[in-house]
Amino acid sequence: MVMRTPRYGRKIRKKYINALKKSKSRHVCPKCGKRSLKRVGFAIFVCKSCGAVVAGGAYEPTTEAGRAALRIINSLKASKKEA
Ligand SMILES: [Zn+2]
Repeated sequence: MVMRTPRYGRKIRKKYINALKKSKSRHVCPKCGKRSLKRVGFAIFVCKSCGAVVAGGAYEPTTEAGRAALRIINSLKASKKEA
């Protein structure tokens, strides 16, 4: 298969291919846990198994920044419960 990529620069091509791979692969559904979450549009993912629609990162359901934010929120929740 010939992949259509941006023409110039190794770095930008690499980034593009990584994003493409992430968006084309199936991800784990947060609702049913099956590996059947597919990207249908910009940041929109639909589970082929249970039909759940999930919003996330542009090319993958969870991004590194999103996971970091979630960690902070969870730690704040935990500290609130203790007080
Ligand atoms: Zn599902």
